[in-house]
Amino acid sequence: MSMITISQLGKSFSGQRILRGIDLQVEASQVVVIIGPSGSGKSTLLRCCNGLEVAEEGSISICNQHLLIDGKIIADHALNDLRTQVGMVFQSFNLFPHLSVLENVTVGPRKIRGMSKDQAETLAHDLLAKVGLAAKADAMPATLSGGQKQRVAIARALAMQPQVMLFDEPTSALDPELVGEVLQVMKTLANEGMTMIVVTHEMGFAREVADRVVVMDQGCIVEAGPPGQIFVNPTQERTRSFLQAVL
Ligand code: ADP
Ligand code: MG
Repeated sequence: MSMITISQLGKSFSGQRILRGIDLQVEASQVVVIIGPSGSGKSTLLRCCNGLEVAEEGSISICNQHLLIDGKIIADHALNDLRTQVGMVFQSFNLFPHLSVLENVTVGPRKIRGMSKDQAETLAHDLLAKVGLAAKADAMPATLSGGQKQRVAIARALAMQPQVMLFDEPTSALDPELVGEVLQVMKTLANEGMTMIVVTHEMGFAREVADRVVVMDQGCIVEAGPPGQIFVNPTQERTRSFLQAVL
């Protein structure tokens, strides 16, 4: 079953085309890693997948529900509903600084899903245990390391019980020694069958976890394939030069 279907997506900012004719399909439980130079449109593509940006051309559907149809976004109430099915994790954790770790994770389920406090807290404790932070439930975000903050952000996204998770360079802001703990949580999620799109420069993660690697440059997908193919036998010069720069 296709979880995400993107066809002929096009988006401009102030007259400049940032995404051009993007076609991408992600099946249930697949992990797609997007790589490519800075400015190639990776973040914009992810943001279009949960309605944070609206593309003027093309279509997107998530879990068989339309999000964008021929450049027209669905109605607000439907968009809010769909957003709960698409979890997103950013480079800059974006935790609520005035809320405890537990409250960061319960706020979405309580306010948006209408869950009771008890129910939301039970769920949150489970998710914090899953990301290895059971002991930090009562801590405030400011007292956590970057890796811990990012794991809370992942637990918070999972608390909405999404069908799909989007990660936009989730480890780029971390000190190198904290990257592994976040990648490990993502690997576990992937192994449990979560459908994921991950923008990352962590090539080891891409090799090990991705079903498919998509290479973007200048708003286009220049090449896509299994990691063994993209990393070993890329067919496009732009892929080769990008990989040479990062590996
Ligand atoms: P990437 O994530 O691959 O680095 P982005 O999607 O962030 O690329 O950006 C692609 C291009 O779109 C860049 O040239 C960037 O400057 C431009 N861009 C992104 N967001 C905006 C915006 N809100 N307004 C204007 N230009 C933007
Ligand atoms: Mg980006």
